[in-house]
Amino acid sequence: MTTLLWFRRDLRLSDHSALTAACEQGPVVPVFIRDGMVDALGAAPKWRLGLSVAALSEALENRGSRLILRSGMPSEVLAELVEETGAERIFMSRSFHPETAERDLMLQERFADQDIEVKLFDGHVLFEPTSVETKTGGPYKVFSPYWKAIKNREVEDELDAPDKIPSPKSWPDSEKPSDLKFDDRMNRGAEVVRRFTEPGEAAAQKRLAQFIEEAVEDYDKMRDRPAVDGTSGMSEYLTYGEISPRQCWHAGVQAREAGKAGAEAFLRELGWREFAYHLMVHMPRILTDNWREKWDAFPWKDDERAAEIKAWKQGRTGIPFVDAGLREMYVTGRMHNRVRMIVASYLTKHLMTDWRVGQRWFEECLTDWDPASNAMGWQWVAGSGPDASPYFRVFNPMTQREKFDPDKEYITRWIAEGQDNPPDTALAYFEAIPRRWNMSPDDPYPEPIVALDEGRQRALEAYENRSF
Ligand code: FAD
Repeated sequence: MTTLLWFRRDLRLSDHSALTAACEQGPVVPVFIRDGMVDALGAAPKWRLGLSVAALSEALENRGSRLILRSGMPSEVLAELVEETGAERIFMSRSFHPETAERDLMLQERFADQDIEVKLFDGHVLFEPTSVETKTGGPYKVFSPYWKAIKNREVEDELDAPDKIPSPKSWPDSEKPSDLKFDDRMNRGAEVVRRFTEPGEAAAQKRLAQFIEEAVEDYDKMRDRPAVDGTSGMSEYLTYGEISPRQCWHAGVQAREAGKAGAEAFLRELGWREFAYHLMVHMPRILTDNWREKWDAFPWKDDERAAEIKAWKQGRTGIPFVDAGLREMYVTGRMHNRVRMIVASYLTKHLMTDWRVGQRWFEECLTDWDPASNAMGWQWVAGSGPDASPYFRVFNPMTQREKFDPDKEYITRWIAEGQDNPPDTALAYFEAIPRRWNMSPDDPYPEPIVALDEGRQRALEAYENRSF
């Protein structure tokens, strides 16, 4: 009884319920499909996905198995593979994005006609989003009560990687990784961002262990300091499923039991990721529409050719904390959470720009891009989301910098202009950006495109005039 194991956002061997179940029943044919969802990814997350697929392929080969790579419509590719391998089952981890979730249901129906079982396994989140309900029924819309409802729930033990992954008698053909062209839109940025990422399950486990050993103790004190390596760095690994949320959760619980002060705050952040999925599954329009409909009437700007929006994307607003964040993202594929909030507040408030412009830019540049967390983060900052920060809470990037980057370590790391000897990190930005942006480290640092007080005032007036 051969099983096709379709890997998607679960690119690991340990704590993989579908893989463990498949191995118990006979030969396994692991497969990855470059489908329309992969092609629709932003440049950086698509490229990073390719690294993850390569790492998984190597890990499988080390265990005497293989990863079969194919391109096309999943229903057609899987049907061809069923035909070629004689597989009687297709296993995969459950996906929660509305488009993929709907497609998976259709696949189940389609293959039922051929007596092929298509089975979905848990693993991408700790708690099935529909299993958490308020006392009166229905989803939570506010984080605190949601967190109260989940934080003491039982989380099952994690699974070891299977000792052996049984192989089929013969392997179906596979495309080559280079055929899948994960890097087709990265251009010269790929080489730069590669210096800042360590893909794969082994790297994820190593990073988690290091965080628990060295940084979780002070996590709640240091997590807002962007110059400090004080957070877990798990988001990128969780995005591709190189690590499971269950593995992160148990590591956090063990740290809490060992008396590490910051462990509780770390677990709570994992709770925010769960909340993002809870919101997306119950109300998928959070991905595309203002959660609060009254925001549809707000005079958001959204012309991506506008000079202010371009300056924001290119990290030359003239506000160092904002520009540093946008450059950190361009160079590393990630941005510190505190700075994400600041650049998002600056775009939606000082520049009065539609949060979806920022959402799309993050989707293009973040290697930890996650549809649920990104949409929730943007709507939270913009004020249009559930449980959102109120619109009149406008982050002041100057005072935020004084508080969270008091020695200017972070802005020095990312902004070259004006420094006699800029560090490699700041210079790397100019290696990564398109030449047509016409920026040089020798340029003078730009003047603010909008005076902070003026921008704040403009936003508040627009908000008050709508009498929200
Ligand atoms: P840690 O501080 O170590 O936290 C541990 C884990 O908890 C993270 O890996 C992540 O999985 C989860 N987590 C922490 N904070 C949040 C949060 N606010 N929302 C949801 N989950 C959280 N996170 C993404 O993974 N992908 C995104 O595309 C994304 N876009 C964002 C956009 C905006 C505008 C904002 C404000 C936040 C966004 N976040 C996103 C959330 C957060 O910034 C990152 O998860 C965090 O910076 C990742 O760093 P870390 O892994 O070191 O986090």
